[in-house]
Amino acid sequence: MGMDTKAFKRALRKSDKYHRRGFGHEEEVTELLNSEYKSGLIKTIRDNNNWLKQGDVTIRLAEAFGFCWGVERAVAIAYESRQHFPNERIWITNEIIHNPSVNERLKEMEVGFIPVKDGQKDFSVVDSGDVVILPAFGASVQEMQLLNDLGCTIVDTTCPWVSKVWNSVEKHKKRNYTSIIHGKYHHEETVATSSFAEKYLVVLNLEEARYVANYILYGGDKDEFMKKFEKACSPGFDPDVDLECIGIANQTTMLKSETEEIGKLFERTMLEKYGPTELDKHFMSFNTICDATQERQDAMFDLVQEDLSLLVVIGGFNSSNTTHLKEIAVDYGIPSYHIDGASRILEGNAIEHKPLEKDLEVTENWLPEGEITVGITSGASTPDQAVEEVIGKIFETKNVALVG
Ligand code: SF4
Repeated sequence: MGMDTKAFKRALRKSDKYHRRGFGHEEEVTELLNSEYKSGLIKTIRDNNNWLKQGDVTIRLAEAFGFCWGVERAVAIAYESRQHFPNERIWITNEIIHNPSVNERLKEMEVGFIPVKDGQKDFSVVDSGDVVILPAFGASVQEMQLLNDLGCTIVDTTCPWVSKVWNSVEKHKKRNYTSIIHGKYHHEETVATSSFAEKYLVVLNLEEARYVANYILYGGDKDEFMKKFEKACSPGFDPDVDLECIGIANQTTMLKSETEEIGKLFERTMLEKYGPTELDKHFMSFNTICDATQERQDAMFDLVQEDLSLLVVIGGFNSSNTTHLKEIAVDYGIPSYHIDGASRILEGNAIEHKPLEKDLEVTENWLPEGEITVGITSGASTPDQAVEEVIGKIFETKNVALVG
């Protein structure tokens, strides 16, 4: 509380131990990235209108899926850091992105994860001569400050789209508005975003937003409110005082339509309470859903219009943008399987997958007999190679040789 986050970031940027871009090893790194994460098969399918038919199996890829540029950029900078600091110890504060194979590869490159003890990161392992990478979804300002105090080199791969949200939060703060953040309060990105706010409240979905909107209009049971948002608000938050002026912010990977609806809901709410001439004094909103998330969700809305037998959604189980793609499949009533890689497709036509808000389960005979059309998409942190492997397994299960 009370920390001048803007001034801190400005000072940090001037430090010669703080880096926000690559180190000029782009060419080597691009080659490495291409060989590890790109896929010839996916390129072929993409060039063929996202469509591939062999034997009984038709594959329909979403128009946009997989690695977004923010993730590509973060991974590239991390790889470059290894080349640039060949002898230094390198740490990363979190999974750079939510993808098991990428994280595995970083481990092989001896990029260590900051250990976590009792739910707290233990930065005592970091020496001043070390290099610490901040992931694509950023780090809290307290963490940055701690690392800065330790005197280590900081390589910040925070996606510019995420920084854009932080900037809106700074604007809310400047005018003493409370930031209402559409997100998951425990997601690293939202933790980082809220660290830039003075006063904030995190709402998970439209239902929670409606609850808050009702409270703004009609008041309510304060204890119940505080119990509900106990972990999702700034210290000392008081709904009777702190909801008079609000600004909207979001985790960049939430369902776009929901973020928009939440924004509109609060706009209407403040309009109703304060009237049109006073609205600007009580409400602020900027569009901060990232392009990549938008594109992938739009592509999914197109894909579910196709005549599909089923959908496979590939991405880390804790990846928020992947889960939202799965939600769209569920909304449209198409059988869908969220997996984090090809190894979830088991011998004998079975698949281990994660239904929404449930633990992993195994479904037998998941690929119907005869002709099938399989829609496929993947989250922003899934390399094309992972998608290729999944397609390979599907053909294998259906006994179709993959030619080409
Ligand atoms: S999903 Fe969007 S905000 Fe997140 S890393 Fe990719 S481009 Fe950046």
